[in-house]
Amino acid sequence: MYDAAIIGTGPAGVSAALNLKIHNKNFIWLGSRNLSDKVTKAEKIVNYPGFPETTGEGLNNAFKAHIESAGIEITEGMVTAIYPMEDHYALAVSSEFFEARVLLLATGIAMRNTLPGESEKVGRGVSYCATCDGGLYRGKEIAVVCNNPRFEHEVKYLAELASAVHYFPLYKGIIDMPENVFIESGRPKAVDGEERVSVVITSSGDQIPVDGVFFLRDSIALNNLLPGLETTEGHIAVDRSMATNLPGVFAAGDCTGTPYQYTKAVGEGNVAAHSMISYLAEK
Ligand SMILES: Cc1cc2nc3c(=O)[nH]c(=O)nc-3n(C[C@H](O)[C@H](O)[C@H](O)COP(=O)(O)OP(=O)(O)OC[C@H]3O[C@@H](n4cnc5c(N)ncnc54)[C@H](O)[C@@H]3O)c2cc1C
Repeated sequence: MYDAAIIGTGPAGVSAALNLKIHNKNFIWLGSRNLSDKVTKAEKIVNYPGFPETTGEGLNNAFKAHIESAGIEITEGMVTAIYPMEDHYALAVSSEFFEARVLLLATGIAMRNTLPGESEKVGRGVSYCATCDGGLYRGKEIAVVCNNPRFEHEVKYLAELASAVHYFPLYKGIIDMPENVFIESGRPKAVDGEERVSVVITSSGDQIPVDGVFFLRDSIALNNLLPGLETTEGHIAVDRSMATNLPGVFAAGDCTGTPYQYTKAVGEGNVAAHSMISYLAEK
């Protein structure tokens, strides 16, 4: 059992991790070892104190060097579900589970919304984890919606299990897929079905019959990740200590609201880490 878990390796997560490390907390940090695409994609940054003019790549490299010199490890993986236990939380990452007493959600903001019908059908045909749920669709027909080519290996894994995969790649590029993967030209517009998912509706109005739909995205809608989490206008509701409505759950960065800025994320990550340390001390 870890004292704390940080979900997300953007600027908010980096700041929180450094502060937890300074305070000798036993924590797990989950996300991408490449940190955040929203940092690397910035062409030019002119508002980060101490760096009068830098690039996203430059800031990312500085973050990486700082993490490395502090001796902090990142556990690569997407958290696909969080389960509240009696006095701690369990986090699902691929086929593994990690447990922690306090959590920091530093997941950034999902730029795309969930599809109509998606949230209602989580666990009833909608899945975010190929490794956890792929086995349920052995010999069945599924759809996969994916926004990043780095998840293509998961699509191939699902194709080994399913009889057919209707693939909606929401990115450009050459896709080399097994022959039971059918690349759909339209965009997915909604998922529907009575009890469980039974169709994906496309932008051209087609209804593709499926037994399940996998969404492989860089970010998962927060209410789907942690049920009961209070949000306002798509952001996690927090107080000044960055505490959410759930005991032991804190949030920082873009996921708590605008302005979407590096320094706001870093500042909130710092506040959240100190609040987590106080929370653990009180417990
Ligand atoms: C092109 C571009 C240019 C920008 N330029 C500037 C600028 O010049 N100045 C400025 O101040 N701001 C700028 N921004 C905004 C800035 O990028 C964001 O405000 C900042 O990155 C927010 O940091 P964050 O840590 O909250 O989230 P993010 O940087 O979004 O990081 C969150 C991380 O969490 C990961 N994650 C999400 N869900 C999960 C999960 N379930 N499990 C594991 N990991 C997960 C995501 O993949 C991501 O890596 C720019 C943004 C873009 C896109």
